[in-house]
Amino acid sequence: MSWKDLSKVELHLHLEGAAPPSFIRGMAAEKSIDISGIFDERGGYRTGSFEHFLKVYEAACSVLTSPEDYRRLTLAVLEESAANGVVYSEAFVSPDFCGGGDVESWRDHIAAIEDAACEAEARAGITLRTIVTCIRHFGPDKAKRAALCAAETMGGFVTGFGMAGAETVGAPKDYAWSFDLAREAGLRLTCHAGEWGGPGMVADTLRDLRPERIGHGIAAARDPALMERIAEAGVVLEVCPGSNVYLGAVPSWQKHPIETLRAREVKVTVSTDDPPFFGTTMTREWEMLDKTFGWNEGDLTELNMVALSAAFCDEATKDRIRKTLEAA
Ligand SMILES: [Zn+2]
Repeated sequence: MSWKDLSKVELHLHLEGAAPPSFIRGMAAEKSIDISGIFDERGGYRTGSFEHFLKVYEAACSVLTSPEDYRRLTLAVLEESAANGVVYSEAFVSPDFCGGGDVESWRDHIAAIEDAACEAEARAGITLRTIVTCIRHFGPDKAKRAALCAAETMGGFVTGFGMAGAETVGAPKDYAWSFDLAREAGLRLTCHAGEWGGPGMVADTLRDLRPERIGHGIAAARDPALMERIAEAGVVLEVCPGSNVYLGAVPSWQKHPIETLRAREVKVTVSTDDPPFFGTTMTREWEMLDKTFGWNEGDLTELNMVALSAAFCDEATKDRIRKTLEAA
């Protein structure tokens, strides 16, 4: 049994954050943009703290300036995901990076991403859906524009709305207008919380933004009553263990709370977040879960089903993916 070959469902992946470094370096060279400082001597991304990671991330994004760039990015990302056994993926895409919040430019970007997704699906059998994402540290006004873009393009391919970025900036309630607009438009909701913030941040996010999934949410493991509430409400956590260990949100794989959360019947899933920035892949996540907690193929099957149930795509797509997983 090879972890690489087993079929996987991934719910938490930032499209730009999944850009292979060679792809970003190539695009920078084509455009004569010097971002050599973001790469290390082995050609990978040079990242350290979370704040530094955000700077490197934004520098990498600066070379992506057109819908065509995003079409090529999506192809490169999905090729890598499919090579690691991913059959269904949900990616965060931000109007702030795709057209600066302008609705018409956003439409062109998302059309190009969807075009690439269709091509990758035909070629590599991987299905992609997108979650329009506002960036918390860009502030509530930009979040409103992102929500308007999301509502304008909602449909089969654009299935959700969410928030990423620095949790230390502002409060969840500052973004309630955007989440309410997205909810009323019919979008499904997720929000990053409890990666750097404490259990209170998870609780405030659930109360003020009412998402059905939480990005990370690992801080909930420090509060038994909160874990119980999350388990009862059926809120699903998009846990990214490799990301948490790499950035130091938890000290080690051994100390990662995913096992505790699962033991308390919190619905957990496994994702890579920004894989090349954190030296990970879906294959590596499962190799490490196997090595650290002894998780086996049965655990993967179980977590795939949790993830598929919590996916934001329509039922027909879920049925199709379920059959793919069962046939694998
Ligand atoms: Zn994330």
